[in-house]
Amino acid sequence: MEEKYISLWDKSAEENDYAGHVETTRDADVIVVGGGFTGLSTAYHGAKLGLDIHVLEANKIGYGGSGRNTGLVNAGLWLPPQDVNKKLGTETGASLIETLGKMPEYVFSLIEKHQIQCEATQNGTIHAAHSLTGLKNLEARAQEWQRLGAPVELLTAKETESKTGTKRFYGGLLDNRAGTINPMGYVRGLARIALAAGARISTGIHVEKLARENGLWQVQFGEQILRAKTIILATNAYTDNLWPGLKQTFTKINYFNIATTPINEKLYSVLPEGHGLWDTGKIMFSLRKDIHGRLVIGSMGSIVKGMEKMSERWAVRNLRRLYPELGEINIENAWHGNIAMTPNHLFRIHKLADNLYTPIGYNGRGITTGTMFGKVFAELLTGKEEAKLPVPITPLSPVKGRLLKQNLMHLAFTVNQFVKSL
Ligand SMILES: Cc1cc2nc3c(=O)[nH]c(=O)nc-3n(C[C@H](O)[C@H](O)[C@H](O)COP(=O)(O)OP(=O)(O)OC[C@H]3O[C@@H](n4cnc5c(N)ncnc54)[C@H](O)[C@@H]3O)c2cc1C
Repeated sequence: MEEKYISLWDKSAEENDYAGHVETTRDADVIVVGGGFTGLSTAYHGAKLGLDIHVLEANKIGYGGSGRNTGLVNAGLWLPPQDVNKKLGTETGASLIETLGKMPEYVFSLIEKHQIQCEATQNGTIHAAHSLTGLKNLEARAQEWQRLGAPVELLTAKETESKTGTKRFYGGLLDNRAGTINPMGYVRGLARIALAAGARISTGIHVEKLARENGLWQVQFGEQILRAKTIILATNAYTDNLWPGLKQTFTKINYFNIATTPINEKLYSVLPEGHGLWDTGKIMFSLRKDIHGRLVIGSMGSIVKGMEKMSERWAVRNLRRLYPELGEINIENAWHGNIAMTPNHLFRIHKLADNLYTPIGYNGRGITTGTMFGKVFAELLTGKEEAKLPVPITPLSPVKGRLLKQNLMHLAFTVNQFVKSL
């Protein structure tokens, strides 16, 4: 694919890219480092509450996970609700599940209200059972979500076939709250509405150092310095060495996506109702369409440099396994991005120093989570108590054997891709 695009979404998003130049003469209330969902949602919500916010992004808007992801707008966390309660306790767990359960609605309402051009399709996503064990897992999830009153349906194999167009699944969990978007369109839309609300955004600014002087933060890049009362690090899986020890708190894995050229939807019945889908496999895969009929298929792992053809073969083989009737399959784009996984699959909030916060480790669920954190931090910075944050603030805790885990997972994902490309 062309080097200048970081993903299909970068090329196809209808929202204009925004490149802002830094103006160092004005200090801010809040400096946000990172121009993805989290940073820009913080800027939008904060500016609306009257904060003077400046977002500094090292590359371009959406350069991290936000412009590269699959675009499944899911409710809840990676973990089933019952596990969230076990890990966080029923009070915090229940409140978090309720908040995140409502977030797809909130994301789609922001899109609607501000006419964000991002191919928004809110007609549910399907978690599809790749095996009988996978189906059991979905049954337990369905039971708990239904007990909580969420609009989810357990689909039989036949119903799953009619909604996905393939016989390969044992059943599925349809979540009617969820949907799909063009994620780059959404993140650029957030930038647009943040600017309109009065926030400032500067791109191409790689923050190199944070220092404290006279009760203010000094944010350094090159020879320049900006000052702010509060800093939000919204760098997530793209965290570098800016804050010592931060990138040691999660395991970085890759996820890749491959997009075909548009298929003739009149001839082939692939995801006929436009649902996004992912499966219950340990090394999961995902599938969705964009509004032009391109199929976007992805899985854990990366497009390995020099082995790009293997990834393309993987995509073609898997699409053929699912839809043997598909005619010629041509690949248009291939890309990957970083995901920050935490050992217990729950995101964290760290207070790294006075007036310096970071939410981190979204475990592959960032569209709703990042939007939520922006809202939550805007409220925190305008007076809400820390105790009301969705999860308690925890100290940094490095992942034991992180590099070894990262390397082993990278190897396992590459082997899996190789085997399934044969
Ligand atoms: C391939 C893939 C598929 C995914 N699929 C889904 C999905 O379907 N649904 C879903 O909800 N989530 C999905 N995710 C997860 C989701 O994309 C992320 O959780 C989300 O984008 C995180 O947003 P963020 O704003 O917190 O961080 P990011 O979008 O990663 O942004 C961090 C930004 O910080 C910048 N930065 C880093 N260091 C500095 C510095 N020193 N100075 C200045 N800037 C800096 C980076 O350039 C980057 O732009 C997926 C992720 C990937 C990679």
